[in-house]
Amino acid sequence: MTATDLTLTAPVDGIVVPLDQVPDPVFSGETLGPGIALDPLGNTLHAPCSGVIVQCARTRHAVTLRDGHGLEWLLHLGIDTVALDGEGIDLLVREDQAVSEGDPLCTYDIDALACRARALITPLVLTNAERATVHVLPPPHQQIKAGQPLLTVRLGQHAGTAATALDDTLRARRRLHIRLPQGIHARPAARLRALAQQHEVTLTLTSDQGQSADAKSLTGLLGLSLGNNQYVDVTAEGATPEAALDAVEALLASTHEAHAPNAGRAQDTSLKTNSDVKTGTGGQEVPEHALVGQIASEGIVLAPLARIEQALPEVETQGASPKTETTALREALTALEHDITLERDQARQSQRQADAEVFEAHLALVNDPALFEEAVKAIEDGASAAHGWRRAIDQELETLARSENALLRERNDDLRDVQRRLMARFSHDNEGGATFPEGAIVVADTMTPSYLVERASRMGGLALAKGGTTSHLAILARARGLPCLVGLGASVLDVTAESALLDAQHGYLLASPTQDQQADALDRQSALNERRMKAEANAHQRAITLGGTEIGIYANIGTAEEAYAAAESGADGIGLFRSEFLFLDRDRAPSAADQQDAYARALAALPGKPVIIRLLDIGADKQVPYVQAPSAPNPALGIRGVRLWQHQPELLETQLDALLRAGQDAGPDSNLHIMVPMVTEARELAWVRQRMEARASALGIETLPKLGAMIEVPSAALNAGTLAAHADFLSIGTNDLTQYTLAMDREADALASFADALHPAVLRLIKETIDQAGATCPVGVCGGAAAETLAACVYAAMGVAELSVEPTRIATLKQALRRLDEQTLIAMIPDLLRQPDAAHVRARLADFSLTATETPS
Ligand code: PEP
Ligand code: MG
Repeated sequence: MTATDLTLTAPVDGIVVPLDQVPDPVFSGETLGPGIALDPLGNTLHAPCSGVIVQCARTRHAVTLRDGHGLEWLLHLGIDTVALDGEGIDLLVREDQAVSEGDPLCTYDIDALACRARALITPLVLTNAERATVHVLPPPHQQIKAGQPLLTVRLGQHAGTAATALDDTLRARRRLHIRLPQGIHARPAARLRALAQQHEVTLTLTSDQGQSADAKSLTGLLGLSLGNNQYVDVTAEGATPEAALDAVEALLASTHEAHAPNAGRAQDTSLKTNSDVKTGTGGQEVPEHALVGQIASEGIVLAPLARIEQALPEVETQGASPKTETTALREALTALEHDITLERDQARQSQRQADAEVFEAHLALVNDPALFEEAVKAIEDGASAAHGWRRAIDQELETLARSENALLRERNDDLRDVQRRLMARFSHDNEGGATFPEGAIVVADTMTPSYLVERASRMGGLALAKGGTTSHLAILARARGLPCLVGLGASVLDVTAESALLDAQHGYLLASPTQDQQADALDRQSALNERRMKAEANAHQRAITLGGTEIGIYANIGTAEEAYAAAESGADGIGLFRSEFLFLDRDRAPSAADQQDAYARALAALPGKPVIIRLLDIGADKQVPYVQAPSAPNPALGIRGVRLWQHQPELLETQLDALLRAGQDAGPDSNLHIMVPMVTEARELAWVRQRMEARASALGIETLPKLGAMIEVPSAALNAGTLAAHADFLSIGTNDLTQYTLAMDREADALASFADALHPAVLRLIKETIDQAGATCPVGVCGGAAAETLAACVYAAMGVAELSVEPTRIATLKQALRRLDEQTLIAMIPDLLRQPDAAHVRARLADFSLTATETPS
């Protein structure tokens, strides 16, 4: 079909409203397609063109018309009018009826609708806009009469195919708009595959470049390189193709995605991820030709690009005798271990906790017996020490590459690091082509952490083809405030330009930005810097909202050392010390004395401030080899948390002794709080209190710490009042509360983007907890969602007293809360609780979110 212009006429007298001004993101974001809206001044909608009615909504508020070219036009009377259930609307047509342009489609009681609908604005959108370009004729806000020309449409080559395909009931096709901030990357791809299985259909995605992939093939899908804001043709074949396409459409339209696999857990148990790294970016438009990636570390840089390649050092491949080479390997590993230990200790001394953790991980690899064994095997086959080590690591990298677990795959950089560093000991060349001019945006496929540690101060920004936001490299970039995008795809390696814009606020790299784009970036850069500086300068001030409510911003930590980092970051207290970290990586439980020492140091880091130490939370996702819980078919629902201690009371007694002594030794400065995990009902808390009192009396300790419960189980939230009667405080663990409320395993990658703590069901439980308990017992939130600005604002508006987050989030979260006008949010809460799912909650919060996360104060 050659290009053709069609004209559509105004369906009603009204004022022209550009689609992006429609107060519903489904329309304003063009999720349904391009078009225009009218604010109606008349009470009848007319057909904007001739065609056949293909769909009338049961609730009479929407009609879809297919024109002679197969284009389908949705006319949607008002916003949120589905809730009126057809009241006040008379439909004058039925499905399959042919209509001529100007024929009346429906009449309505305009006054009644104006009172009851959120808005009367009526969008007209092209829902199968395959290669069709829509052009609006009248300027915005002009008054227009029904029947006057409103739109022209230019048809491209493929227009009309959608209609043909839709005629076949077992095969349906839609052109869908991708609104996933990171495009179709591994997780959405995995979910598309799951949707195809669930609906028993074959799903085929075809890009505008004509490349197709079956959703069964993850790599095929990823190979399409479909980014945010692109369109894709999706065909479903099977028993229920329309239902499958509905699900795909919802998936591709969800502008919010979980931040990382098991985002909350990864973020909080390891204190390694920044849950906000992606949330400020949802749905923002990216310029054409930009490469979209994931934000590993926020910031904006305009600078020259420098592509580097970290080639492996050149080494001899053939070895001398296996004995000589094995000895050489052993010696080189010992020397490397020595170097890394020094680096780790220096990092610890200078409070560079993130660096210290990375070096610790590298030490584990250097000492890994399996890697050593593999290297020795290669040496026995004739390889040199260096080459044997290279082969052992290459083999491990291959295994990791096949892993379904994204967190595991992100350990690649660490393996490459120890591979390079050991090989460099046998080589004179270890820099390869990896040099760059000062201040450049460094582009690379991947990068080893030690390379970054040494050179970060000379880089302006970092753009990597591979990697994820939970990799060690991402953590190091965040710790240094180095703007960094990861997962940009291989095409980033081919970008050649004098200068580029690395926008790690909206998540893209743009080569040769125009002057306007540069000016806009510089404005946003200075706003961001100003916000950061202000946040950091005020990190130690209290967070008081515009409405005058003080919210305590506490820190989540896993070790006593982190308590010092938390204090330096401005923490008002420790909201969650996950004591199980003391129990990891050992073959028996730590003694009471070792535990006491760790708890005492945490208390000393924040004298007088509340320090909430959680009793051992073992089971399900948290395991240590020497604590054996009775087996359960589903460990997440088995003996875990508080339930475990009834089977192993000595664990509890030892820990209570250590805590009580640490609290007493800290003297009047002690503000120790003890928190009980995985509480289901009040009797469990009462039992722990009774054990605590018994141990205190046996130790002769009179001043008891405060005792509180975590709200992680729906029953605890629903019965929070009875718990509050036994508790001094409550703290909501959104990671588990979301898991148990939505019946979605927090470890399941395929569910990660659905397991959203802003789900209305989770919000209702949080509200219930506060309503029942808040008046007598302070309620905080220490789950991962507390670190997401938007969720934190919602929880604050609901009335939580304290939010506990990773230390690096404290300054910015405090600053965001200082800007919070909670009255606006409080007024929105009933509406949020009525939403059907988290995506709708987030859509409702879209306008609010922009103010909360973008506006410089
Ligand atoms: C939670 O469940 O939200 C929580 C804070 O505990 P953890 O993530 O350690 O299970
Ligand atoms: Mg938990």
